[in-house]
Amino acid sequence: MSVQVCQRCGKEILSGGLFYKVRLVSQAGFDGVLNEDDSDVEGVIAQIDEKDQEMMERDVYFEMEATLCIGCKEKIIESFQREVGFEDSIGPGERLH
Ligand SMILES: [Zn+2]
Repeated sequence: MSVQVCQRCGKEILSGGLFYKVRLVSQAGFDGVLNEDDSDVEGVIAQIDEKDQEMMERDVYFEMEATLCIGCKEKIIESFQREVGFEDSIGPGERLH
């Protein structure tokens, strides 16, 4: 029997109880335009050290996942909607176009 613990509030989620895996994915978008500053890719790559490389990889794709209770899951979603300015009735899926 595994006991899940909410990573936000520390509440134990009893066996069979509701919990959520909430994932944040940040993925670089591309509109088809390359700015001149970014065109010397090989030159830029030659100059970066390992730490910079980690940051650059994070710039391209970043993912994190948390186990949350239902209350914290709702708070995180509400916070995201508030920060990004989504109306309650409009989810991200409807804003993709
Ligand atoms: Zn919680």
